[in-house]
Amino acid sequence: MSPANGACPVSTGRLPMGMLDEVRSLLILQDRDRRLLALAKDLDKLPQDEARANAKLAADQAAVTKAHDALRDAELKVKKVELDANTRRTSILRLKNQQFETRKNEEFQALGHEVTRYEKEVDELETQELELMEEVDKFRKVLADAESAKKHTQGLIDEDLKSIRDRKERLTATRDEVREERAPLAAAVEGSLLAYYERLMKTKDGLAVAPMLDGGRCGGCQMKLIASTVVKVQAGTERATCENCGRILHNG
Ligand SMILES: [Zn+2]
Repeated sequence: MSPANGACPVSTGRLPMGMLDEVRSLLILQDRDRRLLALAKDLDKLPQDEARANAKLAADQAAVTKAHDALRDAELKVKKVELDANTRRTSILRLKNQQFETRKNEEFQALGHEVTRYEKEVDELETQELELMEEVDKFRKVLADAESAKKHTQGLIDEDLKSIRDRKERLTATRDEVREERAPLAAAVEGSLLAYYERLMKTKDGLAVAPMLDGGRCGGCQMKLIASTVVKVQAGTERATCENCGRILHNG
């Protein structure tokens, strides 16, 4: 049995009966605009993602700098000890020459004591130098480890940055496509209605056209609509707006 009253139960799909063409057009336009808003939001996040990726290197860089400074300090200590030892070696040579030249037994012995004292100091400095050279080796290893950790992190960051760049490219391409789709849709809407719609999009959280919900409430602000508005939305023969938020309503 076919429907006799003219109501077609299937042909309109999900689109409700009794919807103004202008509202239907705005719904399609709004779909594109909401996609553009979401894309813009995703694109806006990318610089932060980039900064976050780059910040990952800071700790590794700090470790490298610290290890580098520690190594340099240790190397300076070795140099200083070498210098001290050399000064004493020169003194020993000088004392030995004096010893060779002196004819006084007492002075010879006194110089001999000096030589012994310096030789002992040289021994101690040589021991110190060996210990410090071990330190240098240790810090060289710490620096190498820190540099390799930094390199590893840099590799991860490079991957992150590449994936961010790829995302940006994809998002931008999609945005350009949607913008192209949007242009003729917007051009097809009557000027003052388009201006009204665009103002709502800006001020009403990206939802200018809202469905009327069960119980006759506005799908945008949730307020209960007055009876005449509910009837208007159901009839779909003239434009209906929410008397609270101003959104354009549809019988969705
Ligand atoms: Zn409302």
